[in-house]
Amino acid sequence: MDNCIFCKIARGEIPARKILEDDDMVAFSDIHPHAPVHFLIIPKRHIESLANCDESDAALLGRMLAVAPRLAREQGSPDGFRTIINTGRVGRQEVYHLHIHVLGGPEPIPGPMVGR
Ligand code: 5GP
Ligand code: ZN
Repeated sequence: MDNCIFCKIARGEIPARKILEDDDMVAFSDIHPHAPVHFLIIPKRHIESLANCDESDAALLGRMLAVAPRLAREQGSPDGFRTIINTGRVGRQEVYHLHIHVLGGPEPIPGPMVGR
């Protein structure tokens, strides 16, 4: 996708603080972090959102989730973290390239899981 910001990050066309890259996925720090540790895990292939996935994407989705614990530890969140996938209009997704948010830090994330 020519105009997708996360495709551009995956291709190295715009800078990001990448913390992992392999054939299928990239992880990089969120530009506006909501916690001391906040990074995103994306597939290199342009997939708009989780709403566009099905069982045929299970291996890719599984790998994206499975690297989160190691990356969270390496980034300074050794005692747990929060994973968020915002999906579509109702999920208030802003960037329409599938991404898993990983939020954490040395201390618990303040506040409730969602605002009221
Ligand atoms: P969403 O609301 O779609 O789940 O989250 C999109 C996230 O992407 C936001 O947390 C936002 O800060 C992050 N983001 C948007 N543009 C950029 C960018 O150019 N670089 C990086 N590193 N993060 C971005
Ligand atoms: Zn994309």
